[in-house]
Amino acid sequence: MARYTGPVCRLCRREGMKLYLKGDKCYTDKCPVAKRAYAPGQHGQSRKKVTEYGMQLREKQKVRRFYGISESQMNKYFLKADKMRGITGENLLRLLELRLDNVVYRMGFASSRAEARQLVTHGHFQVNGAKVDIPSVLLSLNDVIAVKERSRGSEKFKSIIENHSGNTVKWVDVDLEQLRGSIVAEPTREDIDIPIEEHLIVELYSK
Ligand code: SF4
Repeated sequence: MARYTGPVCRLCRREGMKLYLKGDKCYTDKCPVAKRAYAPGQHGQSRKKVTEYGMQLREKQKVRRFYGISESQMNKYFLKADKMRGITGENLLRLLELRLDNVVYRMGFASSRAEARQLVTHGHFQVNGAKVDIPSVLLSLNDVIAVKERSRGSEKFKSIIENHSGNTVKWVDVDLEQLRGSIVAEPTREDIDIPIEEHLIVELYSK
């Protein structure tokens, strides 16, 4: 299944929670989840009994939507996570966190993962000195992510510096003046703030 390109607020309402897909709007009272905390559509307000399978499926969909990935990408991440040492669910989230588009978002250089993905595909970033325009590239410890020299003077990045909240994750060291950051640790489960019960996803894939 391809990546979803329809109205994203609908996805949050479907999951009954904020997925923070629209940048600044998500933090205002214009957020539709705050106004209508039920699923979209004609039967959105009717109560349905959720089966075990339904709960597992919803957790997987939430993760896909948080990170903006397709079903087939999700399957690949799960296979990779399952082969790694440690707890599969945590491995899965760690892999997703280490995607280049997510790291750009975590560095505070984009207001949403979708915007981060767009900035990456437009070629504004380098990893360890080389241009990388593939959002799904997986980063590792000590990798350095920087805005390309030619992009630094653009209005977009000037505005990012001016409006940067200073809130970043502790596993990425951000140098705002130089518009760069480096991975100083692998994210642990405690570092990943998304409200997901990843064991349900593992159960789903283990059927
Ligand atoms: Fe989701 Fe953000 Fe839309 Fe609210 S504003 S429904 S958090 S994408």
